[in-house]
Amino acid sequence: MRRINIGELNINQKPVKEYFSLELFGLVDGSNISLPVALISNQDGPIVTIIAAQHGNEWNGSYVADTLYNSLILDDVVGRIIILPIANPPAFLQKGRVSSFDYIDMNRTFGFVKRRKPTEHLAKIIFEEFVLKSDYLVDLHSGGPGQYLPIVEVYNSKRIDLALSFNLDKAMVVKKDVGSIILNAEKNGVQSFSIEAGRALKINYDYAELLLKGLTNFLKATGVLKSKPVVKENQTLYKGKTVVPSTISGFFKTELKLGQKVKKGDVLAKIKPFFKSEPTEIINTTNGTVIYLRYEELISEGESIVHIAY
Ligand SMILES: [Zn+2]
Repeated sequence: MRRINIGELNINQKPVKEYFSLELFGLVDGSNISLPVALISNQDGPIVTIIAAQHGNEWNGSYVADTLYNSLILDDVVGRIIILPIANPPAFLQKGRVSSFDYIDMNRTFGFVKRRKPTEHLAKIIFEEFVLKSDYLVDLHSGGPGQYLPIVEVYNSKRIDLALSFNLDKAMVVKKDVGSIILNAEKNGVQSFSIEAGRALKINYDYAELLLKGLTNFLKATGVLKSKPVVKENQTLYKGKTVVPSTISGFFKTELKLGQKVKKGDVLAKIKPFFKSEPTEIINTTNGTVIYLRYEELISEGESIVHIAY
């Protein structure tokens, strides 16, 4: 792979379809942090940045980003598509949500002044060199100790029409966590979308195919790809979601399935604390649809069991 120093980065070159390793900064031992970047640029038009694996154990996004790069034809592009398939290389190499360099969650670092640790430094470069120069941002994620049905989340409700162009059947306006990339990109006028699909350390190839089609259609909707988008009708637009945390710690069991409709009063899970003979039932308080479900069988008090969209 070609190596380019950050000082020599030029995202305005065109026409070009290439990927390269961007050399960012040195660590204390003299080794370098580098970032894989793909640039597809042709004619004048919007700039779309697609980023995956801020959390290094979320492989669905990296796989989809890679597949998307290979599927794009330069002649179809009117503008620039920037793909960062592995936004957090140290965490990706360690197959962890965060890296052991500093244990910092990259998607909680945006918008803060403090920039001391490698993950913060990396995030700052990604934000300044790519996100702030973009018209649109797509940030790809998967679940951690649980699994998501594919869903588009936006922070700004004006983005709903474009969110539906992903054709994932589910979209929602959410309050994103402080420090998240889409919240801070929106504050800077970049139209931003976050996609959740599947679970960590797994590639769900069915979801990946859905996401690839969805991303391609979204790129058409932004105008950066030439052909006309086709937006599915009757998609579900959720008003919000209830995240149900566990009230106790212990061994976790559930009979729920992803996509299942649940009612108030339903048993969501049973959790048996250590050295107690009987489990405690977690009772539902929201009517809605299960869009995220825990599979990890150990749970600590406060960790989430299920997300119910309504
Ligand atoms: Zn994530």
